[in-house]
Amino acid sequence: MENCVFCKIIAGEMPAKFVYQDDLIVAFPDIKPSAPVHILIVPKKHTESLKTTSEEDQVLLGKMLLIAGKIAKDLGISESGFKVVINNGPDAGQLVKHLHFHLLGGWAKNEGRVTI
Ligand code: AMP
Ligand code: ZN
Repeated sequence: MENCVFCKIIAGEMPAKFVYQDDLIVAFPDIKPSAPVHILIVPKKHTESLKTTSEEDQVLLGKMLLIAGKIAKDLGISESGFKVVINNGPDAGQLVKHLHFHLLGGWAKNEGRVTI
């Protein structure tokens, strides 16, 4: 999709260091990390958010969660603890209108604990 920063990264038109990629998904570090480890997990297909996904995305969404767990393990934050966050829409703070999961972790002991 035109003017979508994540579509440009997926097309190789903007730089990103992929930590994972397959036929459906890419993952790369957030340019402005909110945690010591902050990876974005992004579907290659452009869809805005969980507002625009449907039943046909069931396998993709499940795979994105499995990949979050795999990357957490690969990056050594699986045992210490990690979060997966999805911002949907303006009031939730979604800035990039291409669905993505934030994988966050790598804090010092208990530092990542917040009540939600
Ligand atoms: P959200 O607020 O959920 O839409 O998050 C979008 C995230 O994308 C933010 O944390 C940004 O720091 C990140 N971001 C924006 N542009 C880039 C980029 N070119 N490479 C990596 N991360 C980016
Ligand atoms: Zn896009």
